[in-house]
Amino acid sequence: MGNSIETTCVQGGYRPKNGEPRQVPIYQNTTWKYDTSEFMGKLFDLEEAGYFYTRLQNPTNDLVAAKVCELEGGSAAMLTSSGQAASFFSIFNLASCGDHIVSSSALYGGTYNLFATTMKRMGIEFSFVDPDCSDDELEAAFRPNTKAVFGESVANPALSVLDIERFAQAAHAQGVPLIVDNTFPTPVNCRPIEWGADIIVHSTTKYMDGHGGAVGGCIVDAGRFDWTKHADKFPGLTTPDESYHGVVYTERFGLEGAFITKATAQLMRDLGAIQAPQNAFLLNLGLESLHLRMAQHSANGLAVARFLGEHPKVAWVRHPSLPGDRYYEQACKYLPKGSCGVVSFGVAGGRAGAEAFMKKLGLAQIATHVADARTCVLHPANATHRQMNDEELAAAGITPDLIRLSCGIEGTGDLIADLEQALG
Ligand SMILES: *Cc1c(COP(=O)(O)O)cnc(C)c1O
Repeated sequence: MGNSIETTCVQGGYRPKNGEPRQVPIYQNTTWKYDTSEFMGKLFDLEEAGYFYTRLQNPTNDLVAAKVCELEGGSAAMLTSSGQAASFFSIFNLASCGDHIVSSSALYGGTYNLFATTMKRMGIEFSFVDPDCSDDELEAAFRPNTKAVFGESVANPALSVLDIERFAQAAHAQGVPLIVDNTFPTPVNCRPIEWGADIIVHSTTKYMDGHGGAVGGCIVDAGRFDWTKHADKFPGLTTPDESYHGVVYTERFGLEGAFITKATAQLMRDLGAIQAPQNAFLLNLGLESLHLRMAQHSANGLAVARFLGEHPKVAWVRHPSLPGDRYYEQACKYLPKGSCGVVSFGVAGGRAGAEAFMKKLGLAQIATHVADARTCVLHPANATHRQMNDEELAAAGITPDLIRLSCGIEGTGDLIADLEQALG
């Protein structure tokens, strides 16, 4: 079978045998029945592979995770209940109280809160670096107790493009893996593992589901990072897990399976952020058309950015694939097929201009969501950041005139016509 990204979107993960359902079946059950308690015991000891309780593993979830794994070119993957859970697990699987992480400062707001507030309360410290920092600044951020580097391939909402190769080299030089949140471009537009990333996380809530239908997340392991070479840094992967009768994950499951097996066996067991099999089924329906939708999202994003860039009532426009954008060269390298459908821009007339513009939009609808089949738009100064005054907004990198537009997959001409009448 062909293994282009398009074919993998449609047929990856699940390959039914003779007489089996053609579509991924929904295993709507919590438990599995076994003939002997001896066999059940082996399942509990991770000595036999098999399903016993959906909080740990469910076949529907595994088949859909396998598709995302193939799309990213990884060795193992797992679904989580949300993107937040995926980001949390990806780090908590490596770091515990007293450890340190280097992260790009260009992050989704929820991820920043998770790192800077909640995980800090767990005793994990984060150093935030500008994604465009110098090599020296990046190197200086590491500490002896650093366990990973984290960044977003295309940052939400900053739309900066991470220099994945440079960040991967810096991480590897310090003996730690690079974790990349690849939510915005998806593996259709960007394949971070090919540039050296070790672990990929997704909010599948965004383009992967793509229809605003199901919250979810995913973690993919490239299976290349050699935990045993840096065994002192990663004892959780390289020394016996007493909560699993002394299993050593790297020995039993190899470099390909250790990370995801540990995240499943420990974190999913104890924290329970499982994706509902119904949602995994919906996610798979989304993945079947991801390649078609990403092409249209990206084309609409670029066409709208070009239109806005030439409009006299638009003060500025940002989109990584727009020639002249600060990240254009990096986008050509990492995102040759396009970046995503999100565009940010400033309406002439500042806050008042932006407010008037928002009132006139018809096709673009006001929502906090992004990366949906339907075009959605937000004026952060009047929504997510409305408690801030203009000075505080400036410190957060948000100007009062900023509009965040997430182009859907509607007709390009209709989208531009809506913007044109609202600006006019
Ligand atoms: C939305 C988002 C998340 C969080 O995902 P949820 O599914 O909402 O928990 C993480 N990273 C990025 C880049 C996002 O856009």
